[in-house]
Amino acid sequence: MPEPAQAETPLAAKSPYELRVDLGKGVPDADVRTALKTGEMGFLHSFTTGSTVDGPGVRLVAWTAGCMWRCVYCHNPDTWTMTNGIPVTLARAKEELSKYRQGLRVMKGGFTLSGGEALMQDRFAVKLFTAAKQMGIHTALDTNGYYGERLSDAELEQADLVILDIKGWNPARHKELTGMEIGPSLAFARRLAERRRPVWLRFVLVPGWSDQPGEAEGVAGFAAGLGNVERVDVLPFHQMGRFKWKQLGLEYKLQDTEPPSQEAVDETLALFRAAGLAAY
Ligand code: SF4
Repeated sequence: MPEPAQAETPLAAKSPYELRVDLGKGVPDADVRTALKTGEMGFLHSFTTGSTVDGPGVRLVAWTAGCMWRCVYCHNPDTWTMTNGIPVTLARAKEELSKYRQGLRVMKGGFTLSGGEALMQDRFAVKLFTAAKQMGIHTALDTNGYYGERLSDAELEQADLVILDIKGWNPARHKELTGMEIGPSLAFARRLAERRRPVWLRFVLVPGWSDQPGEAEGVAGFAAGLGNVERVDVLPFHQMGRFKWKQLGLEYKLQDTEPPSQEAVDETLALFRAAGLAAY
């Protein structure tokens, strides 16, 4: 597949908080469909380097564009639309990976595919992970798990680690919070447990939503019962993405929501720890 014309936009970004829109707008629909089917091209918000929070060691992270969820707190709503991302051929993405290969090994890090929702582009994800593994690079998939069934058992093995975002427990609140049902994410978590795949769980603490009674307790009890959750990261809601909602002309329900207090974060950590999980 030829390299698309938008190649002048740098793939590297300082952080995923750079607002990026319409970078893949000129790609014909038929090419988008082919890309999704074959995985020979992906749509990426950016690549960032130096992360120490998206898996073990120091990580190269590719942020995909495209997400079918509509979390009310989403920090990167520009990644909802796939064609806001830069069209990147698989060959170019592999080249990017190979540039960092030695450094990632030295720093005991690896490559993380995040988003957006990485499994919106499941074929691209699998091909990129396969390439990374062939280069000896540790791979991590950051996902909400909704499309986990798109990966075969063998394909799942290409992700050394799954970072699973569980956003709440009460099904009705989860639907209101994300726009989607919680069931498929939980089913994916159970499948990962059955297959003994390592999981790091992420729980975003959002005042008025996931800090409500029963939310963290429910997720903690579920996660503890799986047996494959190596750690839990409780991430306090923040407002770094607020400007994106404004610039995209989206209604932002959490406009005036403050980040949770340290006390609330500590209490949530205590709930996960009380369930026997390593929580940070
Ligand atoms: S799943 Fe992630 S990218 Fe998608 S809407 Fe929610 S927070 Fe945003």
